[in-house]
Amino acid sequence: MRILKTLLAASLAAFSLAAAAQSTWPDHPIALVVPFAAGGPTDVVARMIAIPMSKSLGQTVAVENAVGAGGTIAATKVARAKPDGYTIFLHHMGMSTAPALYKKLQFDPLKDFEYIGQVVDVPMTLLARKDFPAENFAELRDYLKTNGNKVSLANAGLGAVSHLCGLLFMSQMGVELTTVPFSGTGPAMNALLGKQVDLLCDQTTQTVPLIKSGRVKVFGVTVPNRLEVLPDVPTLDEQGLKGFEVKVWHGMYAPKGTPPQVIEKLNAALKVAMQDPDVKRRLTELSSDIAPMDKISPQGLKTQLESEINRWGPVIRKAGVYAD
Ligand code: ASP
Repeated sequence: MRILKTLLAASLAAFSLAAAAQSTWPDHPIALVVPFAAGGPTDVVARMIAIPMSKSLGQTVAVENAVGAGGTIAATKVARAKPDGYTIFLHHMGMSTAPALYKKLQFDPLKDFEYIGQVVDVPMTLLARKDFPAENFAELRDYLKTNGNKVSLANAGLGAVSHLCGLLFMSQMGVELTTVPFSGTGPAMNALLGKQVDLLCDQTTQTVPLIKSGRVKVFGVTVPNRLEVLPDVPTLDEQGLKGFEVKVWHGMYAPKGTPPQVIEKLNAALKVAMQDPDVKRRLTELSSDIAPMDKISPQGLKTQLESEINRWGPVIRKAGVYAD
């Protein structure tokens, strides 16, 4: 009996400690882990929404870049982090392609995370360094046919969307280019601007200002319709790459076991951030679509992730691309 009483007292104490921790959460800064290098598209979105999220949570949401292996290093780190609400994670659709791409994945996207909500959907653009010897898509096609073995295509590692877009491009064009991996498309873009690499497929969250200012050459957008902010840039589909479509969805996660009350508060802060007029204006300028409100929810993200894992798994396995 005494043992029972002691056990009961101990579990009650633990329960009230946990409850107290939840009611005071957040009482110190929250790390928002980003799986790619600073300055790149995912980082741009994270830093944009961290500001209004910090305001509504009353604590700093500090972006932390944990780069490598196409985003899987950061996902592993978050999966193993303490589920106390002080570590959250912004990743894109790489979360759904990783299980098929990596044979020895150290995390399970469907078991190791709590879902906070979907964030934003972003198209991509196919770019070249400014002095690349092709002026339009037709010239690019001709050039790659005869000089493909000399051309480099930058990406952010296996499973990065720049990698997937590049794979799709090479397979539809029937060419094999030399791929050059970086820790994110931030550094990959610096290499393109510095003329150290030839081509890069990257999200509009980074590329729109560079296209508009003429610092890079653009050959097409990766969605079926032209973008309002770049009306003169044709789609890859309309230039002959039929059905070419890559639109990058993003989600926000926390480690499995993060208390539901904390997830609720994080979700509310994310919703506020996505309705912030400044965030809305900047994302619109960067041709990025804020997820519909009902999808900025744990269930919205879970459904999306499950259906994307089912969509990509067979495609990737058929292509036979993977890391040991
Ligand atoms: N564009 C991503 C980034 O660096 C990387 C990628 O998935 O290509 O934010």
